[in-house]
Amino acid sequence: MLKGTGRPAYSGIAIGRAYVYHKQQSELPASCGDAEKEQQKFDAAKETALEQLQELFQKTKEEIGEEQAMIIDVQMMMLDDLDYLESAADMIKGGASAAQAAHDTGDSFSAAFAAMDDEYMKARAVDVKDVSTRLVNILCGQQTGTIMDQPGILVAEDLTPSETVQLPKDKILAFVTRQGSSNSHTAILARIMNIPSLVQTQLDLDADIDGKLMVVDGFEGVCYVDPDEETLSLMREKQEKAAEYRRQLEAYRGKPSITKKGRKINLFANIGNPQDVKTALEGDAEGIGLLRSEFLYLGRETAPTEDELFAAYRSVVEGMQGRRVVIRTLDIGADKKVDYFGLDDEENPALGYRGIRICLEHDEIFRPQMRAIYRAAAYGPVSIMFPMITSLWEVRQIKAFCAKIREELIAEGMPCGEAELGIMIETPAAAVVSHDLAKEVDFFSVGTNDLTQYTLAIDRQNAKLDRFYDSHHPAVLALLAMIAKSAREAGIWCGICGELGADATLTEEFIKMGYDELSVSPGRVLELRKIVCESEVEPQ
Ligand code: PEP
Ligand code: MG
Repeated sequence: MLKGTGRPAYSGIAIGRAYVYHKQQSELPASCGDAEKEQQKFDAAKETALEQLQELFQKTKEEIGEEQAMIIDVQMMMLDDLDYLESAADMIKGGASAAQAAHDTGDSFSAAFAAMDDEYMKARAVDVKDVSTRLVNILCGQQTGTIMDQPGILVAEDLTPSETVQLPKDKILAFVTRQGSSNSHTAILARIMNIPSLVQTQLDLDADIDGKLMVVDGFEGVCYVDPDEETLSLMREKQEKAAEYRRQLEAYRGKPSITKKGRKINLFANIGNPQDVKTALEGDAEGIGLLRSEFLYLGRETAPTEDELFAAYRSVVEGMQGRRVVIRTLDIGADKKVDYFGLDDEENPALGYRGIRICLEHDEIFRPQMRAIYRAAAYGPVSIMFPMITSLWEVRQIKAFCAKIREELIAEGMPCGEAELGIMIETPAAAVVSHDLAKEVDFFSVGTNDLTQYTLAIDRQNAKLDRFYDSHHPAVLALLAMIAKSAREAGIWCGICGELGADATLTEEFIKMGYDELSVSPGRVLELRKIVCESEVEPQ
């Protein structure tokens, strides 16, 4: 038995097979200098890839279905495509190694597919990239770490949000990473998925753990590979206890979240994409308090079109069946990176060109998203929320832009709805001027993750600083009280959508401050409802 200790990012017990996720090597091997030998390596890798894909095709067809299996069939056809093979062969003749040729051909074909008008062909960009990555991994002696044929525990050195959104979420029972901070977006995604997660785990990834039985204890921050019988039965007991606690909370399903003094607190869910609506409804969320819209932009070769965004938002709005959906506009930047916008690398990305700062200067990015949101608002109650606000002028500019977008849609005869306009309060500047900001908007939602980061000057991504990242710091709590006061004085509603909103030790404090809404990971709703329903405190 191998034991690893880490920092819990989400509680729970998971038992399953370990899948070790391998990143693609950033340095590809150089050519041996003999083009013929490199071509032989390429051809052999192609044969291995075809064998792997054939096996995967059969398995997928039997276990998941024909439609999914066809994606693998398309990838096999790509590996036999003459243009693709010729392009790689030309590169090898020009002095590239087999791996470099597979990588560069993948990139150029993927870019060509992405630039096509036809939506089906556009979508093939990902397939050609995938199949080329498979070749590169074979040539570098690595396995492809993203293919999980059965539910299991994903073990990785680290995961970026872009990598995480591409994983087969329905198969992941837990995340274990050797690096990563508990405030990162990858940890947040694990919470949305309602699965145990450990970061900064001391576990030897070079040890032979792939495919072995593994247990993750997200309560204690430990994991075991090849657990002995005693540990396994102890963990099963613990898992049963946790399940029993969840069963007890079921008594609160469908109940209104109202305190003993009659105050209603909205218990909403944070989600990242339309598939999470299912989790939100399973968690009994009363609405969506934060749709992190940037997740729809991650892990792709090109930006989503207005129609794609509209379809995604509409599916969330319709899925929530009349409950309010707060869509946060694109908050790209810092750890949430996309290549296709061509943004520069920055020395200090958390303080850099991100979120609303990009949107306000890039009409071609902001416009399709805003049009898509207003179009989706025709299908149910939608509120729009803008991230990273610091100044009044930004809000005024945004409001003018929103009015223009609606007018345009109406003039075009495009069905669209109305939407509340609100802002995230996640910079100390916004908190300090919240009194003035409150007069301009319909609501506030506090992003405590960033508010803590910027108030304490602590990079939330930096694992070394986890100990110092204290959302309970008196400075953060004072700002939270100030924000709620500003909202109440202006007569607008205010909520918390950062991770602190789920902190059960503060729920009553938030009610006292006057918060109207807590938007949390779907799995936390019932637990908070219990506290709200049993609470006797009142806003002070
Ligand atoms: C926050 O900053 O608290 C927030 C909710 O936004 P994100 O975590 O996506 O930055
Ligand atoms: Mg934020």
